[in-house]
Amino acid sequence: MKFGGTSVGSAQRMKNMVSLVAHEGNATVVLSAMSGTTNSLIALTQCIKDGETANARKQIDDLQKKYHETAAELLSDKELHDRAITIVDGFFDEIRGYVGRPVTEKEEKEIVAYGERLSTNLVALYMKELGMNAVLLDATEFMRITADNEPDQQYIKENLNAILAQHPEVDVYLTQGFICRNHNGEIDNLQRGGSDYTASLIGAAIGADEIQIWTDIDGMHNNDPRFVEETSPVSELHFEEAAELAYFGAKILHPTCVLPAKYANIPVRLLNTMQPEAAGTVIYNAQPTHTIKAVAAKDNITAIKIKSSHMLLAYGFLRRVFEVFEKHQTPIDMITTSEVGVSVTIDNERNLNEIVKELEEFGDVTVDHDMVIVCVVGDLEWQNRGFEAEVVNSLREIPVRMISYGGSNYNISLLIRKEDKIRALRLLSSHLF
Ligand code: ASP
Ligand code: MG
Repeated sequence: MKFGGTSVGSAQRMKNMVSLVAHEGNATVVLSAMSGTTNSLIALTQCIKDGETANARKQIDDLQKKYHETAAELLSDKELHDRAITIVDGFFDEIRGYVGRPVTEKEEKEIVAYGERLSTNLVALYMKELGMNAVLLDATEFMRITADNEPDQQYIKENLNAILAQHPEVDVYLTQGFICRNHNGEIDNLQRGGSDYTASLIGAAIGADEIQIWTDIDGMHNNDPRFVEETSPVSELHFEEAAELAYFGAKILHPTCVLPAKYANIPVRLLNTMQPEAAGTVIYNAQPTHTIKAVAAKDNITAIKIKSSHMLLAYGFLRRVFEVFEKHQTPIDMITTSEVGVSVTIDNERNLNEIVKELEEFGDVTVDHDMVIVCVVGDLEWQNRGFEAEVVNSLREIPVRMISYGGSNYNISLLIRKEDKIRALRLLSSHLF
């Protein structure tokens, strides 16, 4: 059971989340930092880097105060409350130790790790107050990434199971999402939003029956509820469909999270803490359903077109184009090709100037900024008839810059202008669902 930042965002939310765990009985529980804390810790690090010592101290005091208030509201037992304050103060003293010191990426990761350490310690004490048979495990003792920043799944499996075996009589294992160690043994993390990934890795490592991701919405919706009225939750998704949706914009799930569960063949269920009886969305190796399931959109996309008469009948052209992106460590999201040109999209303009300069050696280069990828997900296996037509037809009033279909059995992606996004999402919803 993984609970995100808002699900542990206040003492009341922590109580609510613990009652869901108690109801489940046996579970391994992964927590994020309280909402806002990770951002605060990152802002604090910046302050320290900028040498704003007084400001940094003030930010630390403010955050510490918030944790004192949360502990006071959460724990009524005097002794447990005092213990919470001791732990909280200990962490904040450690954080204060960074002020006035040179802070590099290594220290930043250490500072950011306090978010999850704070939330899990408070919740562990609250579980103790309720008399639950729970134990807090330090994620940095078993979560590890390799030199390539990939989770070391074998290491995680061996070490986590060895630790669990030391506590055989426990109902609830509690641990931190997001944080880990790297191959040098230093504190590291699985990137922003990485607690979902922790949950999936742990679920795979222990062979869980199910991986539950608890949030504030009743599952993955078939369109973006911020822009489209009357979206509804999708009851079942294939792992591949979920991965496409998560990658192309559905905020509910971190894109990397799906993979370990998929390989271990463990269903991932998205559930709502505010409405725990709702079925939510289950993601598994579902059978094809012959339906279109959902739409998502990814903003801030840049399209680059390279047109070259040399591409005609040439081999090696695409490789040389892709090498430019590889060299500048810029991933490509979407590709379309014709005999004389290729269009690709990127979501990171950091190295755009250099990329364009190098691509110009191959032909004419055109760049379109502020584009959006709209991704339609479902059973889009090529022999199913009519789905592509329905998607394209829904968008007939909207200028479409690129269309990509056939890369997988599960999606069709269209590139449109930012100003057309909301209209496109609404048109797709009204035509497809
Ligand atoms: N606390 C981390 C973040 O805000 C990890 C997570 O919440 O998943 O990114
Ligand atoms: Mg999250």
